[in-house]
Amino acid sequence: KAMVEVSGVTQRFGTTTALSDVSLTIASGEFVTLIGPSGCGKSTLLRLVADLLTPTEGTVHVAGKTARAAREAQDYGIAFQQAGLLEWRTVLRNVELPLELHGVGARERRARAEELLEVVGLADVADKRPSQLSGGMQQRVAIARALAAKPALLLMDEPFGALDEMTRERLQDELLSIRAREGTTVLLVTHSVSEAAYLSDRVVVMSPRPGRIAAVVDVDLPLR
Ligand code: ADP
Ligand code: ADP
Repeated sequence: KAMVEVSGVTQRFGTTTALSDVSLTIASGEFVTLIGPSGCGKSTLLRLVADLLTPTEGTVHVAGKTARAAREAQDYGIAFQQAGLLEWRTVLRNVELPLELHGVGARERRARAEELLEVVGLADVADKRPSQLSGGMQQRVAIARALAAKPALLLMDEPFGALDEMTRERLQDELLSIRAREGTTVLLVTHSVSEAAYLSDRVVVMSPRPGRIAAVVDVDLPLR
């Protein structure tokens, strides 16, 4: 069963063609990474799946619905490079947000958010505001928030970028175990070939000018 279906998508920004006739199907439960040089359209593709952009041409479906309907149904969690946290909320209340949108009660929300902050190693800053944290810590809050509602689909744009090696490896392994437990489908953008090989079932290699899929590699390495 397909979780993500991108068909014949072209994305233009003025005279720039960010993506040209891109098609990609991601099966339910699959872990796919997007790699390629800067400007090849990785972020654009992710934003199309998240319905943060509407394609110039082509269609995007998520969980059998249009990207718009999937967004309205909160079918996915997102963690992008710019953490996108709400400054007027504490760290804890940021992580609770997706649970609020799902109508989860206050007590359960709090317990789940505290558990996730524990997982990303930020239990002791739960009551701080995002701007009081370092960039790497904000990224970890964004990862916790993306995981909060146990979404069927996780969209991540270089979520481990600003993290030190130890934290990165711990969070990568945590992501793999969450995924093994929940059967989460993951689409993740990275600059790191080793990260792609370690984490994913399939690596989609993109090339720029215009952005296209240059190769798709099935990963069959006994790394995990
Ligand atoms: P990455 O590290 O993924 O290459 P970028 O710096 O290319 O990140 O992009 C960061 C953000 O800026 C994205 O949301 C992207 O859509 C936007 N962006 C990239 N290029 C342009 C541009 N030429 N004009 C306006 N926005 C852009
Ligand atoms: P990547 O994530 O692979 O670095 P992007 O998807 O950020 O690539 O960008 C692909 C191309 O589209 C780049 O040429 C970038 O400058 C351009 N682009 C991305 N977002 C915008 C935007 N909002 N406005 C104008 N150009 C953009």
